[in-house]
Amino acid sequence: MKELVMEKFNIEESVYDFCTNIEDELSKQFDEIKKITEYNGLKILHAMQENGLSDMHFAATTGYGYNDLGRELIEEIYANVFGAEAGLVRPQLMSGTHALTVAFFGNLRPGDELLSVTGKPYDTLDGVIGITEQNGSLAEYGVSYAQADLKEDFSFDFDAIKKAINPKTKMVTIQRSKGYKYRPTLSVREIGQVIKFVKDIRSDIICMVDNCYGEFVEIMEPSEVGADLVVGSLIKNPGGGLAPTGGYIVGNEEYVENAAIRLSAPGLGKDVGATLGLNQQILQGLFFAPEVVENSLRSAIIFSRMFEKLGFNVMPKYDEPRCDIIQAIQMNTSEQVISFCQGIQKAAPVDSYVTPIPSDMPGYDAQVIMAAGTFIQGASIELSADAPIKAPYTVYFQGGLTGFHAKIAPMITLQNMINEGYCTII
Ligand SMILES: *Cc1c(COP(=O)(O)O)cnc(C)c1O
Repeated sequence: MKELVMEKFNIEESVYDFCTNIEDELSKQFDEIKKITEYNGLKILHAMQENGLSDMHFAATTGYGYNDLGRELIEEIYANVFGAEAGLVRPQLMSGTHALTVAFFGNLRPGDELLSVTGKPYDTLDGVIGITEQNGSLAEYGVSYAQADLKEDFSFDFDAIKKAINPKTKMVTIQRSKGYKYRPTLSVREIGQVIKFVKDIRSDIICMVDNCYGEFVEIMEPSEVGADLVVGSLIKNPGGGLAPTGGYIVGNEEYVENAAIRLSAPGLGKDVGATLGLNQQILQGLFFAPEVVENSLRSAIIFSRMFEKLGFNVMPKYDEPRCDIIQAIQMNTSEQVISFCQGIQKAAPVDSYVTPIPSDMPGYDAQVIMAAGTFIQGASIELSADAPIKAPYTVYFQGGLTGFHAKIAPMITLQNMINEGYCTII
């Protein structure tokens, strides 16, 4: 193996040894995440069996998609796996942003207020909420927005949340993942605490969790600690790298139905939506998901330990608990950021010959570099990295479908940085 890796990928012996020594150090962490994989795998297998999943559920529907038994079963299985009453799992939910938008618009009415208790939400929601002016935003429809920032130590600011809640507050939104912020990810337990706090003030406030990147990283999901709506993307964790598109919304039956009405039309709700033959990939992807998440975590943990040893700040550290698949690494210069991302691209199975460069992106105030050589366009459950080109030069790494890729990608990335003179093994 060693000689082959060195020869085929031009890896120096020192880099190979450095990386494999790190891997050997991490067996305790790997054992811990394996246990979580098994627990989640069990939940999913059990839900598939209990719901009587069968070959016939893989049949394609077309047109209106009436009586799509597979689609209905997928939603039942998702609800069971997430410990929720109901689910809406559709290829017609085009992305995480779209699924969140459908959950917002389905449940908020003019005069209502949306409150974020985790600071400013993920960038792509700025236009949806109306934080930046945008045609068709919630703000344009008369839904106001309030925000309670996390405290300096990244814990919930309960005083600020209490102050922000008023008679108009209809929904509280909670972002589990760090997204592209250098902060720890919230654990499901912490999410449960803030939900309880909000419900104690007013039990009729809808608590929604943006669950992107968090699925199957812990043994519980936010819907098991009181979240009324839990939302995510199928081209991240729960699609297991196989679902070619789609999103999910699980939670309280009435609120999920409201979202379904918004996705299709009032009076149609969940009864329409052809699945065009995607049911099998969505289900098989879910079956794979805990193990794919585990491989992503392996890669994240190796990168974390590796760059910590090389003298960089990392979040989380290799031995800290993980609540999403994202690894943040603070570089010192933009050149290091670019070299890291180009190294990730070199490790990809698809488009490995492409050299990513920073470019302007709508919604960002700095140029952004993105590395992703993926089978499914933009799928960040596959090996990928993104970074805004601005101080403090933080790179966000995530994904990795296989255990082998988790092992080889750090070697290729480090070798790239060494070759370009941006890093040395001390
Ligand atoms: C990925 C992500 C989203 C949605 O992103 P899409 O690219 O639209 O799928 C929303 N919130 C968080 C925290 C995310 O990580």
